Amino acid sequence: MTAEEFRQAAYEHIDWIAEYFESVRQLPVMTNQSPGELIRRLPAAAPENGESISDILADFKSGIFPALTLWNHPRFFAYFSVSSTPPSILADLLASALNVNAMLWKASPAATELEQVTLNWLRQWLLLDEQWFGIIYDTASVGVMQAIGAAREWIAPECRVKGMRAGLTVYVSEHTHSSSEKAAITLGFGQENVRKIPVDHNFRMRADLLRDAIEADLAAGKTPCCIVASIGSTSTAAIDPVDAIADIADHYRVWLHVDSAYGGSAAVVPEMRPIFKGAERAHSLILNPHKWLYVSIDCSVLFTRLPEIFRRASSLSAEYLKTGEDDQVINYMDYGVQLGRRFRALKLWYVFRFYGKEGIVGMLRESLRLAQLLKSLIEADPNFEVLAPVDLSLVCFRHRSGNAVNRRLLAELNATGQAFLSHTVLHGKYVLRLAIGNFQTTEGDIRGTWSTITALAKGIAATEPALSEA
Ligand code: PLP
Repeated sequence: MTAEEFRQAAYEHIDWIAEYFESVRQLPVMTNQSPGELIRRLPAAAPENGESISDILADFKSGIFPALTLWNHPRFFAYFSVSSTPPSILADLLASALNVNAMLWKASPAATELEQVTLNWLRQWLLLDEQWFGIIYDTASVGVMQAIGAAREWIAPECRVKGMRAGLTVYVSEHTHSSSEKAAITLGFGQENVRKIPVDHNFRMRADLLRDAIEADLAAGKTPCCIVASIGSTSTAAIDPVDAIADIADHYRVWLHVDSAYGGSAAVVPEMRPIFKGAERAHSLILNPHKWLYVSIDCSVLFTRLPEIFRRASSLSAEYLKTGEDDQVINYMDYGVQLGRRFRALKLWYVFRFYGKEGIVGMLRESLRLAQLLKSLIEADPNFEVLAPVDLSLVCFRHRSGNAVNRRLLAELNATGQAFLSHTVLHGKYVLRLAIGNFQTTEGDIRGTWSTITALAKGIAATEPALSEA
């Protein structure tokens, strides 16, 4: 492909993306594909000879795009709503073109130093002091595995050479994201050594029961190693009592990791900073800019007060990776299992500069406001109830007539293509989750979706009154 041919092809792609942004509100959020449909439609073997980019783009538009659920849609409310903003897309384009590898400072000095600079900016927005060191991983799932690995290095350093010590224990709540338990499985702690601490009526970890569990484990000869507390749990966006948990972590000398993959972004908003109370006492914490900080997947930031422990846990220096500057620079490969690392700091830099702190705070505040608006609409309707506190931008609610009605309501709503919500189960009740966070979501999107929900619910209640249950 010549430079001129590349230019023309790139313009076509950029035009398509610009049109996507202009028309996305009219597009169905969820695809109605059935499993295997795309595989059956595409050739089973790769082409022998190259094809033109125009043909490939045409097939993308007609075949691939319609088979996608549109995460970057203002009415994508499932799981946690995410945004790939224009500055993030442009930065990823440059990063792909340059294809630099941010493994060692020497391999690409600006990639390393921009990571230091942008994470320093984010650290200041979160009001964390200078001792906090930041690193970008691809996902929070990998970050929590690194954090629990660091906890193991801190508590039982012999494991690095001798292998796992039996009875090292990890504490999560019943509502902690499954990535923590997966990390414990991967690292060899074993599921039997993952304690799921019960939650209170607001789905927050019970600090008193955490203390009891640690005491019981100590009495049984186990070694408490790591506690994972959440600021914004996945089911309900619950905020654990991190300060009280930090007291326990200090008392028993257990590593405290804070999972604020989703909720941490809200702490950038000055009046929301109290949600971070206690987080500054953690040993590590995670915030995913690819969830609610307007950066494309993937980009997950881990901050730690003990970078040396991460280094001890993860570095292994091979001769061919040694450079002359190793003692003066950060080589990010030393702080995780990954050697090759994408140049993710570039999209943070683009997004932080394009919107500025005020722009980002403004968008976060709007998501928070829309969540409160939706909560008030639900509370004003006697047929519905809100099931969990709305502290952030997630609203958990249900129709009062029971699980079957709610299951059908969610399926029918998603089938309209007008919005996409997901669900959870709280105290045995099937609950709809509506997460707000896309940069293009407006009040009209929320009111429109609520009208669709209430209209569908009326229809379901009329046709299937027998479905009503306690
Ligand atoms: N922690 C929380 C609270 C989450 O909600 C999620 C995903 O939704 C994760 C961790 C895992 O995030 P990732 O997809 O970056 O691994």
